[in-house]
Amino acid sequence: MSKLPLLPTTVIGSYPRPKWLREAIRLHKAGKISDEDLQEAFNDAVITVLYDHYKAGIDVPTDGEVRRDEMVEFFAERIKGFKFYGPVRVWGTAYYRKPSVVRKIEYNRPMLVDEYIFARSVSYTDNLKITITGPYTIAEWSYNEYYKNKRDLTFDLAKIINQEMRNLVEAGAKVIQIDEPALHTRKEDVKWAVEALNEAVKGINAKLVMHICYGDYSLVAPYLNEIKVDQINFALKIYNYKPLELLKKNGFDKELGAGVIDVHNRRVETPEEVASDINKILEYFPPEKVWINPDCGLKLLSRKIAYQKLVSMVEGTKIVREELKKKGYSIT
Ligand SMILES: [Zn+2]
Repeated sequence: MSKLPLLPTTVIGSYPRPKWLREAIRLHKAGKISDEDLQEAFNDAVITVLYDHYKAGIDVPTDGEVRRDEMVEFFAERIKGFKFYGPVRVWGTAYYRKPSVVRKIEYNRPMLVDEYIFARSVSYTDNLKITITGPYTIAEWSYNEYYKNKRDLTFDLAKIINQEMRNLVEAGAKVIQIDEPALHTRKEDVKWAVEALNEAVKGINAKLVMHICYGDYSLVAPYLNEIKVDQINFALKIYNYKPLELLKKNGFDKELGAGVIDVHNRRVETPEEVASDINKILEYFPPEKVWINPDCGLKLLSRKIAYQKLVSMVEGTKIVREELKKKGYSIT
């Protein structure tokens, strides 16, 4: 990785798809444009997203996950052993094609390598982050019609995710984030889910990040230091930073990726608000161990609002960096 400033800024992963990309996907589904045209549209969208991240001043960008409709479905479509039935309703009017495991799962072919190589070729920084969904979240959000239990399925998924992460490192990936938003769903599963996650990241020579968000962090807090990643990022803004106390109490000793932008609210935070929030975080953790990010992916916001939120996040971070500089910190 190239050198990062103090309080590096990053995104969680997803970014709103440009309207014209959604139109291209619709035309492709209707058989009106070719696979090649759709790929070109995806590539152009990656360039667009990275340019937004660049303009906003994000230190560690992603490609916006513009090729993925959904974070479990994308992988289930590419791993052998999954089958899709009809869509199920997840919230409000949002539907999701819940996959089923119908036989022993097997690694099929690289899932993210082409995506990473393209994004890297158009990225303004080699500190590009690639995200991959973790084994427990894939298992928890799928139907299991084959394995004796969810635990066995999760450990098999861990092997597949590990294989994919190895391929990503070989392709040059320097920062990999494993997304486990379901990790703290069920108290009785957390202990082995963390073991499976450690299998998934075993031997991976990259900067490793884990993302979790929304829900009761107290279920997972006692296990966080056991997770073999360098950094864990959390949704914190939406909880008004209350989990900081819990993390501190549990002796959290990894880098903290602090969510300072509410992705469920269209109101754009001001830079001053972000700065004051970061200062709150710094009452608990030292600046050398803190990264700044939104609570979660920005996908569900409009592109305009998502962009403005990133700008505020970066501007707010710069305010705090200047304050820290005056206190004698090196900020570059
Ligand atoms: Zn999230």
